[in-house]
Amino acid sequence: MTTAQIIQQTDEHILGTYGRFPVAFTRASGATLYDAEGKSYIDFASGIGVNSIGYANSAWTAAVAKQAETLQHVSNLYYTAPGAELAAKLTERSGLAAAFFANSGAEANEGLIKLARKYSYDTFGLQNRKVVLTLENSFHGRTLATLEATGQEKFHGPDFFPYTGAFRYVEPGSIDAVKDACASGDVCAVLIELIQGEGGVYPLPQSYVTTLAKFCAENNLLLLIDEVQTGIGRTGKLFAYQHYGLSPDAVSFAKGIGGGLPLGGFLVSERLRGVLTAGTHATTFGANPVCCAGANVVLDTLTDSVLAEVTRKGETVKAFVQNLNSAKLGAVRGIGLMLGIEVKAPLTHRELVTKLLANGLVALTAGSDTLRFLPPLTVSDAELHAGLEILAKTIQLQY
Ligand SMILES: *Cc1c(COP(=O)(O)O)cnc(C)c1O
Repeated sequence: MTTAQIIQQTDEHILGTYGRFPVAFTRASGATLYDAEGKSYIDFASGIGVNSIGYANSAWTAAVAKQAETLQHVSNLYYTAPGAELAAKLTERSGLAAAFFANSGAEANEGLIKLARKYSYDTFGLQNRKVVLTLENSFHGRTLATLEATGQEKFHGPDFFPYTGAFRYVEPGSIDAVKDACASGDVCAVLIELIQGEGGVYPLPQSYVTTLAKFCAENNLLLLIDEVQTGIGRTGKLFAYQHYGLSPDAVSFAKGIGGGLPLGGFLVSERLRGVLTAGTHATTFGANPVCCAGANVVLDTLTDSVLAEVTRKGETVKAFVQNLNSAKLGAVRGIGLMLGIEVKAPLTHRELVTKLLANGLVALTAGSDTLRFLPPLTVSDAELHAGLEILAKTIQLQY
Protein backbone atom coordinates (compact mmCIF):
# COMPACT_ATOMS: atom_id res chain seq x y z
CA MET A 1 0.00 0.00 0.00
CA THR A 2 1.11 3.56 -0.60
CA THR A 3 1.18 6.14 2.19
CA ALA A 4 -1.95 7.75 0.73
CA GLN A 5 -3.82 4.43 0.75
CA ILE A 6 -2.77 3.60 4.32
CA ILE A 7 -3.88 7.04 5.52
CA GLN A 8 -7.19 6.79 3.68
CA GLN A 9 -8.01 3.35 5.10
CA THR A 10 -6.93 4.35 8.62
CA ASP A 11 -9.01 7.51 8.67
CA GLU A 12 -12.04 5.65 7.36
CA HIS A 13 -11.90 2.71 9.77
CA ILE A 14 -9.99 3.73 12.91
CA LEU A 15 -11.45 6.23 15.39
CA GLY A 16 -9.88 9.62 14.98
CA THR A 17 -8.52 9.85 18.54
CA TYR A 18 -4.96 10.63 17.44
CA GLY A 19 -3.47 13.70 15.77
CA ARG A 20 -1.20 11.85 13.35
CA PHE A 21 1.59 13.07 11.09
CA PRO A 22 0.99 12.10 7.43
CA VAL A 23 3.70 9.43 7.32
CA ALA A 24 3.25 5.63 7.15
CA PHE A 25 6.22 3.52 8.23
CA THR A 26 6.66 0.04 6.84
CA ARG A 27 10.02 -1.27 8.09
CA ALA A 28 13.07 -0.36 10.17
CA SER A 29 16.52 -1.41 11.28
CA GLY A 30 18.73 -0.10 14.10
CA ALA A 31 17.48 3.44 14.68
CA THR A 32 16.44 4.03 11.06
CA LEU A 33 12.83 3.88 9.86
CA TYR A 34 11.57 3.61 6.26
CA ASP A 35 8.22 4.88 5.01
CA ALA A 36 5.94 3.26 2.45
CA GLU A 37 7.80 5.03 -0.38
CA GLY A 38 11.20 3.90 0.93
CA LYS A 39 12.35 7.25 2.34
CA SER A 40 14.58 6.81 5.40
CA TYR A 41 14.33 8.60 8.75
CA ILE A 42 16.56 8.68 11.82
CA ASP A 43 14.43 7.71 14.80
CA PHE A 44 14.73 9.82 17.96
CA ALA A 45 11.30 8.72 19.20
CA SER A 46 11.42 4.89 19.30
CA GLY A 47 7.64 4.65 19.25
CA ILE A 48 7.46 6.90 22.36
CA GLY A 49 10.31 5.29 24.27
CA VAL A 50 9.29 1.73 23.46
CA ASN A 51 11.87 0.32 21.03
CA SER A 52 14.62 0.43 23.62
CA ILE A 53 17.04 -1.82 21.72
CA GLY A 54 16.13 -0.47 18.28
CA TYR A 55 14.57 -2.21 15.32
CA ALA A 56 15.36 -5.66 13.92
CA ASN A 57 17.68 -6.55 16.79
CA SER A 58 18.53 -10.12 15.78
CA ALA A 59 18.60 -11.57 19.33
CA TRP A 60 15.21 -10.01 20.08
CA THR A 61 13.53 -11.09 16.83
CA ALA A 62 14.91 -14.63 17.24
CA ALA A 63 13.67 -14.93 20.84
CA VAL A 64 10.23 -13.54 19.99
CA ALA A 65 9.87 -15.76 16.90
CA LYS A 66 11.01 -18.85 18.79
CA GLN A 67 8.59 -18.22 21.66
CA ALA A 68 5.75 -17.56 19.19
CA GLU A 69 6.46 -20.91 17.54
CA THR A 70 6.74 -22.74 20.88
CA LEU A 71 4.01 -21.39 23.17
CA GLN A 72 2.42 -17.98 22.77
CA HIS A 73 0.04 -17.83 25.76
CA VAL A 74 -1.63 -19.96 28.43
CA SER A 75 -2.88 -17.37 31.00
CA ASN A 76 -1.87 -17.04 34.64
CA LEU A 77 -3.80 -20.12 35.68
CA TYR A 78 -0.56 -21.97 34.89
CA TYR A 79 3.19 -21.41 35.07
CA THR A 80 5.50 -20.41 32.19
CA ALA A 81 9.24 -19.77 32.16
CA PRO A 82 9.73 -16.44 30.29
CA GLY A 83 7.84 -14.35 32.87
CA ALA A 84 9.56 -16.13 35.76
CA GLU A 85 12.99 -15.41 34.25
CA LEU A 86 12.06 -11.81 33.57
CA ALA A 87 10.82 -11.25 37.14
CA ALA A 88 14.02 -12.80 38.53
CA LYS A 89 16.13 -10.39 36.44
CA LEU A 90 14.04 -7.38 37.41
CA THR A 91 14.05 -8.11 41.13
CA GLU A 92 17.78 -8.79 41.12
CA ARG A 93 18.62 -5.54 39.32
CA SER A 94 16.09 -3.33 41.11
CA GLY A 95 16.58 -4.61 44.66
CA LEU A 96 12.79 -4.92 44.91
CA ALA A 97 11.08 -8.13 46.01
CA ALA A 98 8.49 -9.24 43.45
CA ALA A 99 6.81 -8.29 40.18
CA PHE A 100 3.30 -8.15 38.74
CA PHE A 101 3.04 -8.09 34.95
CA ALA A 102 0.43 -6.11 33.03
CA ASN A 103 0.19 -4.86 29.46
CA SER A 104 0.56 -1.08 29.45
CA GLY A 105 1.72 1.85 31.51
CA ALA A 106 -1.77 2.89 32.52
CA GLU A 107 -2.59 -0.64 33.63
CA ALA A 108 0.67 -0.81 35.60
CA ASN A 109 -0.22 2.45 37.38
CA GLU A 110 -3.76 1.20 38.06
CA GLY A 111 -2.04 -1.66 39.89
CA LEU A 112 0.01 0.78 41.98
CA ILE A 113 -3.16 2.65 42.94
CA LYS A 114 -4.90 -0.59 43.95
CA LEU A 115 -1.79 -1.64 45.88
CA ALA A 116 -1.80 1.64 47.81
CA ARG A 117 -5.49 1.49 48.65
CA LYS A 118 -5.33 -2.14 49.73
CA TYR A 119 -2.24 -1.52 51.84
CA SER A 120 -4.04 1.36 53.47
CA TYR A 121 -7.15 -0.75 54.09
CA ASP A 122 -5.12 -3.67 55.47
CA THR A 123 -3.09 -1.37 57.73
CA PHE A 124 -5.61 1.23 58.88
CA GLY A 125 -8.97 -0.38 58.13
CA LEU A 126 -11.92 1.69 56.96
CA GLN A 127 -10.48 5.02 57.97
CA ASN A 128 -11.04 6.72 54.65
CA ARG A 129 -7.29 6.95 54.07
CA LYS A 130 -7.60 6.48 50.33
CA VAL A 131 -6.30 9.63 48.62
CA VAL A 132 -3.25 9.32 46.36
CA LEU A 133 -1.18 12.47 46.04
CA THR A 134 0.26 13.23 42.59
CA LEU A 135 2.18 16.18 41.15
CA GLU A 136 0.96 19.00 38.97
CA ASN A 137 2.15 18.61 35.37
CA SER A 138 2.38 14.82 35.77
CA PHE A 139 1.16 12.14 33.38
CA HIS A 140 0.06 8.68 34.52
CA GLY A 141 -2.16 7.31 31.73
CA ARG A 142 -5.54 7.38 30.01
CA THR A 143 -7.75 4.97 31.94
CA LEU A 144 -10.26 6.70 34.22
CA ALA A 145 -8.18 6.35 37.40
CA THR A 146 -4.82 7.17 35.81
CA LEU A 147 -6.35 10.09 33.91
CA GLU A 148 -7.59 11.40 37.23
CA ALA A 149 -4.13 10.76 38.74
CA THR A 150 -2.62 12.88 35.94
CA GLY A 151 -2.05 16.31 37.49
CA GLN A 152 -3.04 18.44 34.51
CA GLU A 153 -6.23 20.48 34.49
CA LYS A 154 -6.74 20.01 30.75
CA PHE A 155 -7.32 16.26 31.23
CA HIS A 156 -10.05 16.74 33.84
CA GLY A 157 -12.76 18.46 31.84
CA PRO A 158 -16.37 17.37 32.29
CA ASP A 159 -16.16 15.04 29.27
CA PHE A 160 -15.55 11.96 31.37
CA PHE A 161 -17.27 12.81 34.66
CA PRO A 162 -17.64 11.51 37.27
CA TYR A 163 -14.19 10.99 38.77
CA THR A 164 -13.55 9.39 42.15
CA GLY A 165 -12.14 12.44 43.93
CA ALA A 166 -9.48 10.20 45.46
CA PHE A 167 -6.50 12.08 44.01
CA ARG A 168 -4.98 15.37 45.12
CA TYR A 169 -2.37 17.40 43.25
CA VAL A 170 0.59 19.33 44.58
CA GLU A 171 3.15 21.60 43.01
CA PRO A 172 6.38 19.71 42.24
CA GLY A 173 9.33 20.87 44.34
CA SER A 174 7.39 22.09 47.37
CA ILE A 175 7.50 19.84 50.43
CA ASP A 176 5.22 22.27 52.27
CA ALA A 177 2.58 21.64 49.62
CA VAL A 178 2.86 17.91 50.35
CA LYS A 179 2.51 18.49 54.09
CA ASP A 180 -0.54 20.70 53.61
CA ALA A 181 -2.15 18.16 51.28
CA CYS A 182 -1.64 15.41 53.85
CA ALA A 183 -2.79 17.45 56.85
CA SER A 184 -6.29 15.98 56.99
CA GLY A 185 -4.90 12.44 57.32
CA ASP A 186 -6.69 10.92 54.34
CA VAL A 187 -3.64 10.34 52.11
CA CYS A 188 -2.26 6.82 51.65
CA ALA A 189 0.42 7.26 48.99
CA VAL A 190 2.40 9.64 46.80
CA LEU A 191 2.78 8.77 43.11
CA ILE A 192 5.50 10.59 41.15
CA GLU A 193 7.49 10.52 37.92
CA LEU A 194 11.12 11.38 38.73
CA ILE A 195 11.40 13.05 35.35
CA GLN A 196 8.05 14.36 34.19
CA GLY A 197 7.96 13.07 30.62
CA GLU A 198 4.78 14.07 28.80
CA GLY A 199 4.73 17.22 30.96
CA GLY A 200 7.91 18.50 29.29
CA VAL A 201 10.93 16.47 30.51
CA TYR A 202 11.38 18.07 33.95
CA PRO A 203 13.61 16.13 36.37
CA LEU A 204 12.60 16.54 40.02
CA PRO A 205 15.33 18.11 42.21
CA GLN A 206 17.33 15.61 44.30
CA SER A 207 16.77 17.49 47.57
CA TYR A 208 13.00 17.53 47.06
CA VAL A 209 12.88 13.80 46.29
CA THR A 210 15.04 12.96 49.33
CA THR A 211 12.84 15.05 51.63
CA LEU A 212 9.68 13.63 50.12
CA ALA A 213 10.90 10.05 50.63
CA LYS A 214 11.70 10.84 54.27
CA PHE A 215 8.28 12.41 54.80
CA CYS A 216 6.57 9.36 53.27
CA ALA A 217 8.56 6.96 55.46
CA GLU A 218 7.77 8.95 58.63
CA ASN A 219 4.06 9.11 57.87
CA ASN A 220 3.54 5.59 56.54
CA LEU A 221 2.65 6.86 53.08
CA LEU A 222 3.66 4.61 50.20
CA LEU A 223 6.14 6.16 47.79
CA LEU A 224 5.11 4.97 44.32
CA ILE A 225 7.36 5.75 41.36
CA ASP A 226 5.92 5.82 37.85
CA GLU A 227 8.88 4.68 35.74
CA VAL A 228 6.79 3.92 32.66
CA GLN A 229 8.91 6.37 30.64
CA THR A 230 12.06 6.73 32.78
CA GLY A 231 12.55 3.02 33.45
CA ILE A 232 14.40 0.22 31.64
CA GLY A 233 17.64 2.05 30.98
CA ARG A 234 16.20 5.24 29.49
CA THR A 235 18.17 7.47 31.89
CA GLY A 236 21.41 5.46 31.89
CA LYS A 237 20.43 3.38 34.93
CA LEU A 238 17.90 0.54 34.83
CA PHE A 239 15.50 2.74 36.85
CA ALA A 240 15.65 6.49 37.42
CA TYR A 241 15.15 6.04 41.19
CA GLN A 242 18.65 4.55 41.23
CA HIS A 243 20.01 8.03 40.35
CA TYR A 244 18.17 9.45 43.34
CA GLY A 245 19.32 6.87 45.91
CA LEU A 246 15.72 5.91 46.71
CA SER A 247 14.25 2.72 48.14
CA PRO A 248 10.73 3.03 46.76
CA ASP A 249 7.78 0.96 47.97
CA ALA A 250 6.68 0.17 44.43
CA VAL A 251 7.70 1.08 40.89
CA SER A 252 5.73 0.79 37.64
CA PHE A 253 7.32 0.20 34.25
CA ALA A 254 6.07 -0.37 30.70
CA LYS A 255 7.16 1.41 27.49
CA GLY A 256 10.75 0.16 27.07
CA ILE A 257 10.51 -3.25 28.74
CA GLY A 258 9.07 -5.27 25.85
CA GLY A 259 11.36 -3.77 23.22
CA GLY A 260 8.28 -3.10 21.06
CA LEU A 261 5.73 -5.58 22.40
CA PRO A 262 2.99 -4.51 24.83
CA LEU A 263 4.21 -5.28 28.34
CA GLY A 264 4.17 -3.39 31.62
CA GLY A 265 3.97 -4.09 35.30
CA PHE A 266 5.21 -3.09 38.71
CA LEU A 267 7.70 -4.17 41.33
CA VAL A 268 7.07 -4.02 45.07
CA SER A 269 9.37 -3.95 48.08
CA GLU A 270 9.57 -6.86 50.53
CA ARG A 271 7.11 -5.37 53.03
CA LEU A 272 4.42 -5.05 50.33
CA ARG A 273 4.81 -8.55 48.95
CA GLY A 274 1.74 -9.78 50.83
CA VAL A 275 -0.69 -6.95 49.94
CA LEU A 276 -2.08 -8.13 46.60
CA THR A 277 -3.03 -11.71 47.44
CA ALA A 278 -4.61 -14.39 45.21
CA GLY A 279 -7.73 -13.10 43.52
CA THR A 280 -7.18 -9.41 44.31
CA HIS A 281 -5.48 -8.42 41.05
CA ALA A 282 -5.20 -10.08 37.65
CA THR A 283 -4.98 -9.59 33.91
CA THR A 284 -5.45 -12.19 31.18
CA PHE A 285 -2.37 -11.35 29.10
CA GLY A 286 -0.05 -10.63 32.07
CA ALA A 287 3.46 -12.09 31.62
CA ASN A 288 2.56 -13.16 28.09
CA PRO A 289 5.39 -15.53 27.06
CA VAL A 290 6.11 -13.84 23.71
CA CYS A 291 6.30 -10.38 25.28
CA CYS A 292 8.44 -11.70 28.14
CA ALA A 293 10.79 -13.53 25.76
CA GLY A 294 11.43 -10.18 24.04
CA ALA A 295 11.80 -8.42 27.40
CA ASN A 296 14.40 -10.93 28.57
CA VAL A 297 16.54 -9.98 25.57
CA VAL A 298 15.99 -6.29 26.33
CA LEU A 299 17.29 -6.72 29.89
CA ASP A 300 20.19 -8.94 28.79
CA THR A 301 21.15 -6.29 26.21
CA LEU A 302 21.07 -3.43 28.72
CA THR A 303 24.31 -4.33 30.49
CA ASP A 304 26.15 -1.82 32.65
CA SER A 305 28.42 -0.91 29.74
CA VAL A 306 25.44 -0.31 27.41
CA LEU A 307 23.86 1.84 30.12
CA ALA A 308 27.10 3.82 30.45
CA GLU A 309 26.86 4.43 26.68
CA VAL A 310 23.33 5.80 27.18
CA THR A 311 24.79 8.37 29.57
CA ARG A 312 27.60 9.24 27.14
CA LYS A 313 25.23 9.60 24.17
CA GLY A 314 22.93 11.82 26.22
CA GLU A 315 25.88 14.10 27.00
CA THR A 316 26.76 14.17 23.28
CA VAL A 317 23.25 15.37 22.42
CA LYS A 318 23.31 18.01 25.17
CA ALA A 319 26.70 19.35 24.07
CA PHE A 320 25.65 19.41 20.40
CA VAL A 321 22.46 21.36 21.11
CA GLN A 322 24.30 23.80 23.38
CA ASN A 323 26.97 24.35 20.71
CA LEU A 324 24.28 25.14 18.13
CA ASN A 325 23.71 28.21 20.25
CA SER A 326 20.48 28.82 18.37
CA ALA A 327 18.08 31.57 19.36
CA LYS A 328 15.29 29.15 18.47
CA LEU A 329 16.26 26.67 21.18
CA GLY A 330 16.57 27.12 24.92
CA ALA A 331 17.65 24.87 27.76
CA VAL A 332 18.24 21.13 27.36
CA ARG A 333 16.77 19.07 30.22
CA GLY A 334 16.75 15.39 31.10
CA ILE A 335 19.01 12.48 31.98
CA GLY A 336 20.57 9.88 29.66
CA LEU A 337 18.54 9.50 26.47
CA MET A 338 15.39 11.11 27.87
CA LEU A 339 15.95 14.66 26.68
CA GLY A 340 13.82 17.76 26.30
CA ILE A 341 14.85 20.92 24.48
CA GLU A 342 12.94 24.14 24.95
CA VAL A 343 11.63 25.55 21.65
CA LYS A 344 11.42 29.36 21.66
CA ALA A 345 8.42 31.29 20.34
CA PRO A 346 7.31 32.09 17.71
CA LEU A 347 8.52 28.65 16.62
CA THR A 348 6.32 25.96 18.20
CA HIS A 349 7.40 22.46 19.19
CA ARG A 350 4.79 20.99 16.85
CA GLU A 351 6.05 23.07 13.86
CA LEU A 352 9.62 22.02 14.57
CA VAL A 353 8.73 18.32 14.85
CA THR A 354 6.78 18.56 11.57
CA LYS A 355 9.79 20.13 9.81
CA LEU A 356 12.20 17.60 11.30
CA LEU A 357 10.01 14.76 10.07
CA ALA A 358 9.97 16.21 6.56
CA ASN A 359 13.77 16.42 6.76
CA GLY A 360 14.12 12.80 7.91
CA LEU A 361 14.26 12.96 11.72
CA VAL A 362 11.47 11.46 13.85
CA ALA A 363 11.15 13.36 17.15
CA LEU A 364 8.48 14.04 19.78
CA THR A 365 6.92 16.99 21.53
CA ALA A 366 6.32 17.26 25.27
CA GLY A 367 4.62 19.85 27.47
CA SER A 368 3.74 23.13 25.80
CA ASP A 369 7.08 24.07 24.25
CA THR A 370 9.46 21.12 24.39
CA LEU A 371 11.13 19.07 21.68
CA ARG A 372 11.63 15.58 23.13
CA PHE A 373 14.16 12.95 22.10
CA LEU A 374 13.77 9.30 23.16
CA PRO A 375 16.01 7.47 20.66
CA PRO A 376 16.60 3.73 20.91
CA LEU A 377 19.14 3.21 23.72
CA THR A 378 21.32 1.31 21.24
CA VAL A 379 21.33 4.15 18.65
CA SER A 380 24.70 4.10 16.86
CA ASP A 381 26.99 7.11 16.98
CA ALA A 382 26.57 7.46 13.21
CA GLU A 383 22.77 7.58 13.53
CA LEU A 384 22.99 9.92 16.51
CA HIS A 385 25.15 12.36 14.57
CA ALA A 386 23.03 12.06 11.44
CA GLY A 387 19.95 12.95 13.49
CA LEU A 388 21.67 15.89 15.16
CA GLU A 389 22.85 17.20 11.78
CA ILE A 390 19.22 17.16 10.58
CA LEU A 391 18.28 19.15 13.69
CA ALA A 392 21.07 21.67 12.99
CA LYS A 393 20.15 22.12 9.33
CA THR A 394 16.44 22.39 10.07
CA ILE A 395 17.04 25.04 12.71
CA GLN A 396 19.60 26.99 10.66
CA LEU A 397 18.11 26.89 7.17
CA GLN A 398 14.41 26.83 7.55
CA TYR A 399 13.52 29.39 10.15
C1 LIG B 1 3.28 6.69 28.64
C2 LIG B 1 3.12 6.87 30.09
C3 LIG B 1 2.06 6.27 30.79
C4 LIG B 1 0.96 5.53 30.08
O1 LIG B 1 1.42 4.38 29.45
P1 LIG B 1 0.48 3.60 28.40
O2 LIG B 1 1.28 2.39 28.03
O3 LIG B 1 0.23 4.53 27.26
O4 LIG B 1 -0.77 3.26 29.11
C5 LIG B 1 2.02 6.40 32.16
N1 LIG B 1 2.97 7.08 32.83
C6 LIG B 1 4.00 7.67 32.19
C7 LIG B 1 5.04 8.38 33.00
C8 LIG B 1 4.11 7.59 30.81
O5 LIG B 1 5.12 8.20 30.19
